Amino acid sequence: MPEFDPQIGIVSLVGAGPGSPDLITVRGLALLRRADVVVYDALVHPGLIAETRPGAEHVYAGKRGYCVGSTLQETINDVLVSRARQGLRVVRLKGGDPCVFGRGGEEAEYLAGHGVPFEIVPGITTAVGACAAASIPLTHRAAGQSIALVTGHFDPDSRECTLDWAALARMSSIVVYMGLRHIERLADRLIAAGLSPDTPAAVIANATLPSQVVVDSPLDRLAAATHAAGVRAPAVIVIGEAVGYRPKLLGSAPSASLLPESQGAFE
Ligand code: SAH
Repeated sequence: MPEFDPQIGIVSLVGAGPGSPDLITVRGLALLRRADVVVYDALVHPGLIAETRPGAEHVYAGKRGYCVGSTLQETINDVLVSRARQGLRVVRLKGGDPCVFGRGGEEAEYLAGHGVPFEIVPGITTAVGACAAASIPLTHRAAGQSIALVTGHFDPDSRECTLDWAALARMSSIVVYMGLRHIERLADRLIAAGLSPDTPAAVIANATLPSQVVVDSPLDRLAAATHAAGVRAPAVIVIGEAVGYRPKLLGSAPSASLLPESQGAFE
């Protein structure tokens, strides 16, 4: 962990967790509370921004999607470097974990290249948080030995999409981020690559929040069930035998209304 030096400032790349504000780490919250500047993304809960001290600067760096033009990213990079060079404590707050489909790696690279001290504070990534909140054991000894976390951002029919469908079809569980738009063709590709059409699958939207929605269905009917339920982003798609344990676990899970209140989670 680099020491804070008021001559040169510091940037902390902090994971905000999967949605509910009380799922940030203790370290992440402590850094947020003493930050001079917080630069935050669209999926960060407002209850976390409310934790900053009076007078802290708030910079909204919202964008939806992993690979949208670079201009905004360059602006974010410049803000991080310029504020740190003013000798400030900067928190770069990102949904989930900063380095899981969150460009934390690129920002860290930029900071390193500009000689700015930084640290990375992990967060609960959506795959982990959403499965916990939906009563899906992401691994189960009886349901295989591997998990793949993948981005479904790119059109499966485009050259930008480099997913190896055959390799994915051999994984025990697959969690697709940013895949809602292409859900039908994602499922088709996986079935064509060898996954059974009956493979248990689920879509989890607004995971860990009171507005959480879970749709579960065999893989070949998941897209239709998701459309029928009117599910909107942000959502992850979870595919694999582990999803089949949900009904067994669900009986004892609290209902959404028992989830902690989003605002004032730390009072
Ligand atoms: N760094 C983040 C991922 C950012 S990419 C992490 O580690 O979780 C953004 C994608 O994450 C969304 O398109 C969606 O697929 C997923 N996501 C983020 N928050 C979510 C939530 N509360 N519920 C469901 N999916 C979510």
